[in-house]
Parts: sequence; C-alpha cells; structure tokens
Amino acid sequence: MKTRIQKVSMQKTLLPTSTAGSLPKPSWLAQPEALWSPWKLQGEELIDGKHDALRVSLQEQQQAGIDIVSDGEQTRQHFVTTFIEHLTGVDFENRKTVKIRDRYDASVPTVVGAVSRPKSVFVDDAKLLRQQTNKPIKWALPGPMTMIDTLYDAHYQSREQLAWEFAKILNQEAKELEAAGVDIIQFDEPAFNVFFDEVNEWGIACLERAIEGLNCETAVHICYGYGIKANTDWKKTLGSEWRQYEEAFPKLQQSTIDIISLECHNSHVPMELLELIRGKKVMVGAIDVATDTIETPEEVANTLREALKYVDADKLYPCTNCGMAPLSREVARGKLNALSAGAAIIRRELSVGN
Ligand SMILES: [Zn+2]
Repeated sequence: MKTRIQKVSMQKTLLPTSTAGSLPKPSWLAQPEALWSPWKLQGEELIDGKHDALRVSLQEQQQAGIDIVSDGEQTRQHFVTTFIEHLTGVDFENRKTVKIRDRYDASVPTVVGAVSRPKSVFVDDAKLLRQQTNKPIKWALPGPMTMIDTLYDAHYQSREQLAWEFAKILNQEAKELEAAGVDIIQFDEPAFNVFFDEVNEWGIACLERAIEGLNCETAVHICYGYGIKANTDWKKTLGSEWRQYEEAFPKLQQSTIDIISLECHNSHVPMELLELIRGKKVMVGAIDVATDTIETPEEVANTLREALKYVDADKLYPCTNCGMAPLSREVARGKLNALSAGAAIIRRELSVGN
C-alpha cells in the first residue's frame, strides 16, 4: 500500500529531479574531492559515520528541493568495487592490470571461482534511507557489463557468462531493495558506451535478467564517466559529435527497462538521438559533473527545453550527467540548487502553455 501511494505522488510531480548517484562525502568520513578515497574511521565508528553521512546527504538533497532522493552513495567507496567486495569468488589480493572501458589501465581483483552473494549488500542502508524520508528513493547498483569490465576473470573465461552470473546476483539484491521500499533501482552501465557489439549481443539481455520480476521502476545510467583525467582525455578523442548512444538506443527502446539516464549538458551528444528511445522515461543530465562551474538555472532550463523536443514532458526527469563524488560539497550543493531552479522554470513554462 505504501509503495502505491509513493508511486502516485511521484507521477504527480512534473519533471521530478534526481541525481545520477554519488554525492561528496563529508571530510570527517573520507578525504574529499577524490575517488576511491580511504575511510577515516574504523569498525563501529565507520558504520555510524557512514549512516550519519547518509542522513546529511539526504538532508542536502531535500533542502535543494530534489524530488527523488538517494543515499548519495555515502556507504560505498566506489560504485562498482564496493558491491563486488561483498561477493564470493573474487580474490582482492590477487590483482591483475587490465584496460578498463578500453581506455585506461587499472589494477583489478581476480575472479577465481563461482561468484555468489552470501548476504545482501546495501539492503540495510536502503532501509535506513527509507526510514528517513517519505520522498521516492532511488538506489544505484553497478550493471553486469560494467562489473565484468572492472575484474580479471580467471574462472569463467567468458565475459558473457560472468555478466550473466552477476545479473542473477544483482536481481537477488534488487528484489530485496524493492522489498525495503526502494522506488527506482538504477543500474550504472558506463560500459554500454564502449562495447557496442557486446551491448547488443548480450549486455541488454543481462540487464533485463537483473530486473526480472521487479515491480518497482528500473533505470539504466549510461554516461561518459566521472570528471577524472582519463575520461576527459578520452572525450577529447571523440570528435565534435558523440554518437555512442546511437548504438545501444534502438535495442534499449525495445527493452523492459523503464528509465534511461543520460549525459546531456555540456556534452557533444546530439540531442536528437533521444528520438531513438521515444516512449521511455529519460533522466536528462542537465548538470555537468566535470567542472566546478555551477550552472545557472537558465542553462539547466535550456538543456531541458532542448530535450523536451524529443521526450514527452511526463517522461522527462531532470538529473545530473553522472555522480558528483569528486566535487566539493559546496559546488555539489550549488549544482543541486541549480537543477531544482532550472526544472522549476520549465514547470512554469509548461503550466502556462496548458
Ligand atoms: Zn555516470
């Protein structure tokens, strides 16, 4: 019953705002403005600290007027690795250097046996978030293809098979998150912007396996990555028009996923590519996470106005391009406020237009 009420309230808000995922952590929990930042606390203090940070992050989103809130990924060090750390079959001591996203070398753990999830990973954190707010909540999980791209596989020796095993594990976690009251479960698949053949051959099928049997809404987040150097260097090689989305969109449009979360603001993605996913709900990235410059509300509104040419108003969810973990808290707060203010401009325009 509770879930039904929340779903109704979500539909009432036109252009509900949200973030793609991570938000900066407080400096007492982890070193700010860094990815993979080590925790500053230990044991019980760390658990308490993560939960307090979750509460703070929620409050900052609510104060900024964000409509669909999240945990800001305060309890995880990294959006992929933290999930994998809770699984069996992966040896974190036994590391190999591999090329991630076909882009940069990284030292990664090794899959040494059958992978499984002995117990839930984020469900207690999701329950805590659910207790703190009546707003719709979104929870992010790594997508199967992005997970395998962050590992060396010495066991299955098949990217497709390992992704399928992860999809089954993600589905278990997602079902428990749904039962904990999560309204939208999002899978982060930046790898969908790189491995186009695999996306179409089995990537989207694995994503559909991960959401099988869920009644809550589901989303896939496909971006050009955090504003780190390896990604900004890569973007410079992509030319003046980024058409990567064109490869996965036709099949995603046909898929069972409800929402597609995309990078749009300040990117070279031609907005007309959104026509390829007409009918889906779209989380339109209207905040650039690769710069400290805070968007003006009018800049946000411009991006949303452009997106409205290809996305029906009742299906447009203003969002950030990607996570904001590497930004300062001040900048992130400014960007959240800009997102809300920009969405408000378009809501007013739409209500006048009616
Ligand atoms: Zn992203």
